[in-house]
Amino acid sequence: MTPGRVIVVGGGVVGASAAYYLSQRGWEVDLIDQGKVGEACSAGNCGYICPSHVFPLCRPGAIAKTLPLILRRNSPFAVRPRLDLHLISFFARFAMNCRDDLMQETSVALHDLLQHAKDCYEQIIREERIDCDLETRGCLFIYRDAHHLDAFASENEYIRRRFGFCAKRLDGRELARLEPTLRDDLAGAWLFESDWHIRPDRFMAGLKSVLARRGVKVHEDCPAIGLNAQNGRALAVQTPQGMLAADAFVFATGAWTPRLKAMLGCRLPIEPGKGYSMTADFTPGQPTYPMIFEEHRVAITPWKSGLRIGSTMEFAGYDESIRPERLRLLTDAAPHYLREWQLPQFKEQWFGWRPMTPDGRPYIDFSPKLSNVMIAAGHNMIGMSTGPGTGRLVAEMLSGESPGFDPRPFRIGR
Ligand SMILES: Cc1cc2nc3c(=O)[nH]c(=O)nc-3n(C[C@H](O)[C@H](O)[C@H](O)COP(=O)(O)OP(=O)(O)OC[C@H]3O[C@@H](n4cnc5c(N)ncnc54)[C@H](O)[C@@H]3O)c2cc1C
Repeated sequence: MTPGRVIVVGGGVVGASAAYYLSQRGWEVDLIDQGKVGEACSAGNCGYICPSHVFPLCRPGAIAKTLPLILRRNSPFAVRPRLDLHLISFFARFAMNCRDDLMQETSVALHDLLQHAKDCYEQIIREERIDCDLETRGCLFIYRDAHHLDAFASENEYIRRRFGFCAKRLDGRELARLEPTLRDDLAGAWLFESDWHIRPDRFMAGLKSVLARRGVKVHEDCPAIGLNAQNGRALAVQTPQGMLAADAFVFATGAWTPRLKAMLGCRLPIEPGKGYSMTADFTPGQPTYPMIFEEHRVAITPWKSGLRIGSTMEFAGYDESIRPERLRLLTDAAPHYLREWQLPQFKEQWFGWRPMTPDGRPYIDFSPKLSNVMIAAGHNMIGMSTGPGTGRLVAEMLSGESPGFDPRPFRIGR
C-alpha cells in the first residue's frame, strides 16, 4: 500500500514499534491505547532481549513436566480451575503442538524474529539515544541440580548446530567466580553471551517520546470499541473520543486481542498468562548478571538504576488481583541461589498478562475478513525480545515491501 493514514491500536512494545517503523516509511500514524502507552505487559517485565529463547513452551514432554506443577500448591505454574471452553481448547491445542517437528519449525521462526528484533533494538537505541540501561554481558541460566544442568546440553547443541551460537557451560566454582553474589554449592549455569537486557519501562518511555518527536499522534485512555467496515475494508475505528478514519489499521492489542474478535473478523486463541514482578532501587552489592533460577523459574534483572525480580505463569483469565502468595514465590526462591546478599526493599509490585498462544508463535498477518487490517499479537513470554522485529515486519508488510524474513510461520491460518 502507498503510505497514507494508519491507526495503530495498542501501545505496548509491539504497537509502539509498529508506529515507529510506519512513521519512518512516511505513514501518518495515530497510536491509540485504552490506558497509557507502554504501561501494560511491556512495562514491568524482566527486560531480557534474548535471542537464546528460541524454544516454545510446547515441546515433547511438556505436558508430563507441567501437570505435576499444576497440581502442586504454590507452584510458579498455575491454572485457576473453571469451566472455560476457550481455555480447554487452548490447552488441547497446546498438547497437540508438543511435537518435535513443530518445536523445531517454531524455533526457526522465532530465531528469525528474535535476530531481527535485536538488530532493531541496536538501531533504535543508538539512533534515537534511548537511555534504557542496556547491558550486553549475556544472561545466566542457573541450576542447583546437576542433572538439570546436564539436560540442557542437548538443547544447547541443537542451537549450536542450527543457529551457529550457543551457551557456555560453567561449573559451580566458575559461576561463583563470575557472579560472586551466587552461592558456591550450585551445580552451575549456562551463559548465553549474546543475550542483552534493558529496563523495559524506560525503553517504552523513551520510545513514546521518540514517537511524539516524529509526529505520531498518541491518544491515551482511548479504547477501540468498534470498527466501521464496508466491502471487506475497514474505514474507521470507533472510540469514546470519536471516530478515527484511516487507510489502514494495526491491532497490537496483546492479551486483549480475543476480546476484539467482532472487530477483527476472527477469534485468535490467545490466553492471558499472568506474571508478577517486583522492582527495587539500586543496592550496592546487588548481582551484576541477569539470571534465571531454572528450578524455581524466577528471573532477576539488575540495572544501574535498580533491580527487578519476576516470574510465575498463571492462567486465571483477566484477573487483576495481586496475590501476596504469588509474590512470595519470587522472594522465596532467592536464598536457594544467592548468598549473603539481602533482598532489597521492593517498592513496586506489578502484574502483566503475557499474550500466550498454543504453539508459542505470535500472529502477524492481515485479518482474514478485512484487507487493510493487520494483527500483531500473541508474543508469549518473549514479546519484549521480539516486539521491535514484529513492528518492523508489520511496517514492511503494510507498505508492500518484501519482508526481512519469512513471515509465513506467523500467519493466522497456519
Ligand atoms: C513477569 C513477566 C516477565 C516477562 N519478561 C520478559 C522478558 O524478560 N523478555 C521478553 O521478551 N518478554 C518478557 N515478558 C513478556 C512480554 O512482557 C510480553 O510478551 C510483551 O510485553 C507483549 O507486548 P504487547 O505489545 O503484545 O502487549 P502489551 O504490552 O500488553 O500491549 C498491548 C496494549 O494494547 C492495549 N489495548 C488492548 N485492547 C485495546 C483496545 N480495545 N483499545 C486500545 N488499546 C487496547 C493495552 O492497553 C496495552 O497497552 C514478560 C512478561 C511477564 C508478565
